[in-house]
This record gives sequence, structure tokens and C-alpha cells, in this order.
Amino acid sequence: MKCAPSPNKDRPPRSPPVSSIEIKSDDQHHNPSKKERKLRVSVATVQLDDEYRSIGFDTRLAGALRFPHRMWRRTFLQLAAAATGAGADQASWRVGVAKTDITPREPIWLAGYGSRTHPSEGVRQPIFVKALALQDQTGAKSVMVTSDLLGFPRVVAEPIARECQAKLGLSRERLALNSSHTHSAPVIADMLLPAYPAMTAQQQDVIRRYTEELIVKVVATVTAATANLAPASLAFGQGEAGFGVNRRRVTLRQLPGPVDQDLPVLSVRDAGGRLRAVLFGYACHNTTLGDYQVNGDWAGFAQSQLEQMYPGAVALYAQGCGADINPLPRYQGSDPRLGSYSVELARDYGKIAAVAVDLVLHGKMKSVEGPVRAAYSLVDVPFHDVPTRAELEKQARDDSAGSVPQRRWAQYMLGKMGPEGKLPDRYPYPLQVWQFGRSLKLIVMGGEVVVDYSLRLKSAYGWYDTWVVGYSNDVFAYIPSLRVLREGGYEGGGAMIPYGQPAPFGAAVEEIIIEKIAGLMRQTAG
Ligand SMILES: [Zn+2]
Repeated sequence: MKCAPSPNKDRPPRSPPVSSIEIKSDDQHHNPSKKERKLRVSVATVQLDDEYRSIGFDTRLAGALRFPHRMWRRTFLQLAAAATGAGADQASWRVGVAKTDITPREPIWLAGYGSRTHPSEGVRQPIFVKALALQDQTGAKSVMVTSDLLGFPRVVAEPIARECQAKLGLSRERLALNSSHTHSAPVIADMLLPAYPAMTAQQQDVIRRYTEELIVKVVATVTAATANLAPASLAFGQGEAGFGVNRRRVTLRQLPGPVDQDLPVLSVRDAGGRLRAVLFGYACHNTTLGDYQVNGDWAGFAQSQLEQMYPGAVALYAQGCGADINPLPRYQGSDPRLGSYSVELARDYGKIAAVAVDLVLHGKMKSVEGPVRAAYSLVDVPFHDVPTRAELEKQARDDSAGSVPQRRWAQYMLGKMGPEGKLPDRYPYPLQVWQFGRSLKLIVMGGEVVVDYSLRLKSAYGWYDTWVVGYSNDVFAYIPSLRVLREGGYEGGGAMIPYGQPAPFGAAVEEIIIEKIAGLMRQTAG
């Protein structure tokens, strides 16, 4: 495979990793000078939519100080601890982090766009799987895995979870498998297979080999993270970024077009206050780029820029409820006058996200306490009007019964039918909740989740301490809200065709999911 190294201009300018805060003493017996009143303190931180448009689907967180008085020193230390999340109650965390390069070593079909006609041509940027292992005061370990991949389908997530249970004793509810949803990473297993009609049997062999190796690498990464646990402090804060746009409005401007531009950040600092890892989220597709070069899109650039800003730290990105959100503007056309916009925009959006994270890291973050109370469950979500064998057979052969993708989908679904000749009328949908003491609620959802869920859940459980993650544990379909379901379009049901699912979800989808999450929240309440 021809590999193209990242150009030097990919490296962002280094901002000093030292934060400054102003301290005002509350010591009534000391009258500090004006200069002392404004101490400049160096805190020890020294550290598809058009995805598938081409196949006919709707397309989308001290320095040299002289303290004249002990109280000043105490005040400084307290404030510094608050700013870094290094409180005494934090001493109980032990955290490990690891990352593994999963860049393919041979040309391979890239996931997410049905318009691609051949395997990858090179590597613009290496891609990674990363693991953050959090051991709380009870000794329980919870591991968040992030990846520069389109998503972990069930057939890949399950063997990873089984292996982590058998090898590490990690129970299912304490393992979260998230993907950035980059559209410039290899196809995994049979995910979205109907969307890639041009793929050859030989290419499917390449994907099978890559998938087998990926499973081993993910388990090894989780193992490494749980093996390098060290005392740490956790802190949470939220920033904002504005490049995520509701993509349904691109073609349907009359639609409401909600977005979630919160950018949640979880910092992990060692006993000296040095940043060891940072987990951040944003609700937005990684679809700035769509060519034949392997890369992590804007989230890949954001992670690499953060890791250059904080040498030795690992940056992990967890995709939010960005199913109907695209990074905009973007350019994926062939006009040579506009071609440079593609990679420039991906790098720019990555820089914006990295800066948003850095601003949070330099601001006042809230200490995160344990223990982590975890729950995981599958909830059956019914499909609406699942076709019969006869109906599929008619669609598969009747040129007038639908588009080429629909006929191909019908043939695919016939091949998926069980011995009784029926297709499943529901899907076991994975939901997961981690509650950190009383300081942070992490809701982890499967599938491509539209933004309505994030907004509704934060409204229900708190805008300041609720973090909703999508694209986790099993990415098998879009998860529409009732609003999006009724509006229709790609996220409302059209995507079931490339995903190889039997039918759109029924109208109860949103309430079934919201009710199940409510149950998991009660189950994990302190
Ligand atoms: Zn998508």
C-alpha cells in the first residue's frame, strides 16, 4: 500500500500547557499588596445522506511563587486542587490508558460511503483504538474504548466483550465500545455490507483478516490499559464547538434542525497534576472526507493535535448523538479549484475541537468522584411492518418494484431469513449507564443516534453533568426519534436498506429507549 505521511503543516502551533488563575485571599488578618492580590499562578499542569447518496439512499482541561503568608499558600493549594480536580477524595482513582495502531497494512475497502468503487489507496493519518481504564475506590474497573472506526457491529463487539470478561474479569456493563464513525476507516465484518456492491470476494477476505486482527488488538489494548493503573484525579467540564450542523436541513431547510454543540471533557491527571489522558465528545459525523485515504477525519486530527499539545497524554474521542449532524461546510467534489478545502476543513474542524478541549482543560473543571455504578441491558425495539418472503421475492426480481439498491436489499434479506422463513420483527438494542458518584452521568447508546436523544436526556438528567454517547457497543442502524421517524428520510428509515435491516423502527422506538434508560438510571442511582 502506498502510504502518504501527514504533511508537516498538519502539526498545530503549540500552546503553552500552563494555565493561569487569579487568586483573591479571604484571610482577614493579612492585607496583601495589590501585586499579591493578583497573583498570577501557574497551576501545576505543566503539564450518507450523502454517505450513501450514490446508491440512491437519502443521503448525512506552581510555578515560582512566593507566599507571604501561610493562608495564602493554603488558599492557592485549594484553588489549584479545584482547578485540576486533584482533591483529597480523588486519591482513590487509579487509571490506565493505552492505544494501539490499527492502520491497515494493505489496501482495504473503506466504510461509510456507498459511492466508493475500490479499496483504499494510501494512509493520510494512522488510526487507533484506545482504552481508558478507570478503577474506583471499590476496586471495580470500567473501561471506555474509543476507536477511529465507523462502528463496532455486534458480531465484533460480542467476542471482544466475551474475551475481556474471560481474560480480565471485566463484566459487560463495565466495558463500553465506542467508535468515532470516521468514514475513512476499514469496513468491519459485515457492517453495512449491502452498501458496498462493488466489493469483491477477495476484498471481503481482506476485511475478514482485518476484523480478526482488530478483535485481538482491542482486547490487547483493554488489557494494557488495565495493566498500567496509576493514581489519578478525574475532572469534568464542557466546552462548545459550532461546526456540527443538522444535515437534514441541507436538503430540507424547513426542518427544525436541532444540534447539540456541547463538547464534554473528562480529564485524567497524575499525582503531579500532569495530564495523562483526556476523553472528549461531540455530536457530529466524521464525514468531512470521503476519498481513498485512511484517516480519522476531523476527530482524528483533533486527537493527534491534542496529543502533540500534551506530550505523553492520550486523547480519546467518543462520538455523541451525531447521526443527523455533519461537519459543515465541507467539500467532497472533484473540482480542482475546490479540492484543497477537503483536508483543510478536516484539519480545521479538528483544530477547533482540540482548542475547545484545551480551553476546558485550562478552565475550572469539576472533580469527578467514584464509585462508578454501571448497568448494561438490551431492550427489544420493534420494527414496523417486516416484509414476508413473498414480498421480498417480488421486490428482488421486479424491476418496477423499487430501485437497484432496494432489489439488492431484498436479495440480501432473503439470504438472512432463518429456517422458518421469517425475518426478526425486533432488534436487541444495547443501552449502558455509568454513574460516577454524584458527579457525572454517562449514558451510552448503540446505533447511530439522532441528536434529539441527547437533548432530551440532558434535559431530563441535567445539562451540566450528563454526557450522552452514541455509536457504542453495536452500530447496526440509525436510531430515530419519533420526530425524525415521522419526518422520514434517510435517518428516519431509509438507512435500514444499506444497513441490511428488515424495516424501519416502529413509532414506539423513542419511548421504549427513553423508558429503558430511565430504568438503568434508577438502577445505578447512588
Ligand atoms: Zn452515519
